[in-house]
Amino acid sequence: MPAGGPGSTDEGFADRLAAVEERIAAACRAAGRAREEVTLVAVTKTRSDEEVLAAVRCGLRDLGENRVEELEARREALCDALPADVRWHMIGHVQSRKAARAAAAAALVHSVDSVRLAERLDRAAQSLGRVLPVLLEMNVSGEESKDGFPAWDPASRQALPATLAPLEGLEHLEVRGLMTMAPLGAAPERAREVFAALRTLGEALCGVLPWIRGRELSMGMTDDFEPAIAEGATMVRIGRALFGPRTT
Ligand SMILES: *Cc1c(COP(=O)(O)O)cnc(C)c1O
Repeated sequence: MPAGGPGSTDEGFADRLAAVEERIAAACRAAGRAREEVTLVAVTKTRSDEEVLAAVRCGLRDLGENRVEELEARREALCDALPADVRWHMIGHVQSRKAARAAAAAALVHSVDSVRLAERLDRAAQSLGRVLPVLLEMNVSGEESKDGFPAWDPASRQALPATLAPLEGLEHLEVRGLMTMAPLGAAPERAREVFAALRTLGEALCGVLPWIRGRELSMGMTDDFEPAIAEGATMVRIGRALFGPRTT
């Protein structure tokens, strides 16, 4: 096995990437969508730096980490080795006290799950002199272990415009859409229901909250990216299908 881990050879990675690309293309075709409508975010959590570099050599530019510390460490370790057009996506829960670090390290934060975090990110972005693109994470499935704004039943969804209203004044955040996760181990049909609910919710919220400027839907992982694309995903976050099983 190569020193960098099982996913570190370019051939091995290229083969898995080709298989994923084929499945994404097929899902797009089946949904009558253009391949360009879906961004593949390669989730690099727990992978070696060599594996990340193999992904970049194979042409990937959107990379995701789920912890602020890991995102920072990755950027630091690879800053000279990565092309300038790599975009780092923060896809995991961000504690409010780490908002400034996330705002400095991420090109897009997928996981804004509270008004308090949004306010912290806005303040941090302001002091960095930037506008930070973000997505709002929604808990559509109602799983208690999930982060995200409550959106699992009609009552919680109806409360969202009022809950989210304070975000309108945050001039250093640009809200580009929504993100969600299907329940762990859910059957594809159940995952698809969750993704359909996120799409419908996005349409409803954009109608009443015009400051939501984008229609991004970040949904779909290794086990469920095809139903996500069928329901309109514009970003899929894929780890294992690209890099192999996680051992840690
Ligand atoms: C780990 C992770 C992924 C990717 O999961 P895989 O099953 O490896 O594709 C996607 N999104 C988030 C938020 C994650 O933490």
